[in-house]
Amino acid sequence: MKRVIGYRCTICGKEFPFEPERMTCPHCGEKGILDILYDYDEIKKTLTREALRNNRDNSMWRYRDLMPVDERTDVSGFLRIGWTPLYESRQLGRELGLKRLYVKDDGLNPTASLKDRASGVAVAKAIELGYDTIACSSTGNAASSCAGSAARMGLKAVIFVPERAPEGKVAQLMIFGAKVVSVHGDYKATFDLSKAAIEKYGWYNRNAGINPVMTEGKKTVSLEIAEQLGFEPTDWVACSVGDGCTIGGVYNGFRDLYELGLIERIPKILGVQSTGCCPFVDAARQQRPLVPTEENTIADSIAVGVPRNPVKALRAVRDSGGAWIAVSDEQILDTMRVLGRTEGVFGEPAGVTATAGVRQAVADGLIRADETVTVISTGSGLKDVKNALRAAGKPKLCEPALDALERSGIL
Ligand SMILES: *Cc1c(COP(=O)(O)O)cnc(C)c1O
Ligand SMILES: [Zn+2]
Repeated sequence: MKRVIGYRCTICGKEFPFEPERMTCPHCGEKGILDILYDYDEIKKTLTREALRNNRDNSMWRYRDLMPVDERTDVSGFLRIGWTPLYESRQLGRELGLKRLYVKDDGLNPTASLKDRASGVAVAKAIELGYDTIACSSTGNAASSCAGSAARMGLKAVIFVPERAPEGKVAQLMIFGAKVVSVHGDYKATFDLSKAAIEKYGWYNRNAGINPVMTEGKKTVSLEIAEQLGFEPTDWVACSVGDGCTIGGVYNGFRDLYELGLIERIPKILGVQSTGCCPFVDAARQQRPLVPTEENTIADSIAVGVPRNPVKALRAVRDSGGAWIAVSDEQILDTMRVLGRTEGVFGEPAGVTATAGVRQAVADGLIRADETVTVISTGSGLKDVKNALRAAGKPKLCEPALDALERSGIL
């Protein structure tokens, strides 16, 4: 991989050469999450606006020059991941009084969440390295995306989920034929068991927090946002945060484009959590390191009390001049309804959390009316129908007669 120079540890800052199987820093142990370093001068030669304009690959692989996958790895057979639509808001932006608002609907990925981007890279990596099994622990979407891409590419998948994972996501796992371990415990217990099992059985490790190639898949969402906006991204980009891997990727993508001279500035990144589980927001507010918190929110995909990738997430907000904000579960449920009603976009609770955060940030005056904003909708609402019906209610029953319809009050 001639475009990948090596790693830099996010804790001690030491740099060392790329080894495809390395997960964390040899000096700092498990907390030593790594960044992947690219040869931007080399990449500049091929990754230009012109080249992208002529590129007919409408998937995240159009950016493979910026991804840690070997040049020889064939990615043509994958599910179609990425190149999801970026909608200019027709209603919600106006209701919020914003100059411009865009919605990046990543719920339209093949297994219906942004996690497909990371799982695609993980499966490509596992195949490249000769593994026959990939394993992952997840609150749901990392799992279903991993199982989907693995099924497509003929890898076995072993998936650890906490027992509270929504049925829609568990159904995906079963349909994709994964071995599913439903763990009687919270996400931390699930993660720890998967870690022990991965060590014991020697599977490829897709755990997002520690595997540095994951962020590099997720960053393709911001590469797309920039390209879809003609390389003039909005003032703000908002994203919901659990482990911190997604927001770290969002920042890395913009930083790559900045280093390549393709964009002139990096958007301010708004990190959004639920008040029921917001270790990042609490730490930022009290200016102290993260402490473990309870996982008490309906937004299951971001119910992460002990985030696995805190450094990249904190850096994304700090270095972009962004902000942290928390919204309540009621605001999240309300936003599910609002995003559906105003834009026709159906998000799961964690999927609409970024939009809920933007509504709050506008109310707080943190985002000003003369600014432009992109919200990332990270997962589809069909994954969690129970909460969708909680947000929007159930329809009234009507007898099959016109006078009954008139009397029903539905219309
Ligand atoms: C995983 C996930 C997130 C958060 O990503 P992290 O990398 O855990 O911060 C947000 N929304 C959805 C729908 C997710 O599945
Ligand atoms: Zn280190």
